[in-house]
Amino acid sequence: MRIARALAALGPRFTGAGNDEQAVTLLLNEMRLAGLQATRQAYTFVGWELLAPPRLQIVEPGFSEIPCAVMIRSGSGNIRGRLRPAGLRSVVGVFNWESFEVLNEANEVSGLIIQRSDGPAIPQCLDEALSIPAVIVGSDWLDAFGGTLPENVIVTLSVECRHKPDCSGFNVVGAMDGLQDATAEILVCAHFDTMYGSPGANDNASGVDVALQLAAQPLTLPPGVAVRFVIFSGEEWIQLGANAYLGARKRAGDLAQIKLVLNIDMVGKGSYLWPSVTDDTEPLFRQAAAEVLPQAHVVYHNPPMKGDHYPFHVAGIPSIMLLWWPDNVYHTLHDVADALDDKTLLHSKELAARIIEIAAQNLASTKDQICV
Ligand SMILES: [Zn+2]
Repeated sequence: MRIARALAALGPRFTGAGNDEQAVTLLLNEMRLAGLQATRQAYTFVGWELLAPPRLQIVEPGFSEIPCAVMIRSGSGNIRGRLRPAGLRSVVGVFNWESFEVLNEANEVSGLIIQRSDGPAIPQCLDEALSIPAVIVGSDWLDAFGGTLPENVIVTLSVECRHKPDCSGFNVVGAMDGLQDATAEILVCAHFDTMYGSPGANDNASGVDVALQLAAQPLTLPPGVAVRFVIFSGEEWIQLGANAYLGARKRAGDLAQIKLVLNIDMVGKGSYLWPSVTDDTEPLFRQAAAEVLPQAHVVYHNPPMKGDHYPFHVAGIPSIMLLWWPDNVYHTLHDVADALDDKTLLHSKELAARIIEIAAQNLASTKDQICV
């Protein structure tokens, strides 16, 4: 909890906002305290900045102000137009949510509204930068119309933001003693960045806390197997930091060294475990959970959903994301450290440690398999 509290106390850590420095310093210090050899990896990308709160109003029929949040990579604009349903849209590779286009007088698409299926408006990231304004609304935004869009709804939408070329992001990498000589590496990761405006205690200071607690505690590892800890940024930008790190390992030619990626994300509250696994890793998770948390309710996400493990999964590396669900306030200013639960953090650490130890044992005895 100590590290989660310290990170959350720094406030929002939105990648590209230029306020990463304190968090990176904190992470480097914590890694060194844990006995890791810690370094910083920088990468560049086209950033984005919100300049004013967005506004969405239904102006016909009637008049209503609709709570909304801006999608990262939205364009700017102050528009008025007619709504047209635009079908389901994939959001961050995890959700399929209803979307609506705003058509101007020339019938051109001049704005985009995405409707979250299960709760209030919270920001997410677009797959690609848009030149038109794009916002997200809560699942109840059409309740005044009985939940469905009537004909000829006119809205006004205003978003003020800008794209920022040459932004920098930073990952923090910690190597355990013995990694140099190891034949097999287990990569344990978590992201320290947050959605804009959120202190990100559960998403994901909690995962950083658990990862760095693991780094500081003795793990029972056979010879030849060692752990690298990587704390990514840019996760909320659909895994920018993880992709940058993966690219660096590909260029270094030592990607095949990584036998398992264990991604720890949102582990400070929730009523059930919702891990992302693959056929390669589900038996490993099942064994560890049965040993450490036999009472826990587990819902498996196989094939895996997106997260920092996902680019590694695509590259053919077995992966697990450890995650608890639900969390109704993630990506908001209410994601604060006081709402974290010590017990969930402790259980997550114990489960993650057992996953690492079983995988390491199997790797040593079979030479290359994390499951036997
Ligand atoms: Zn997260």
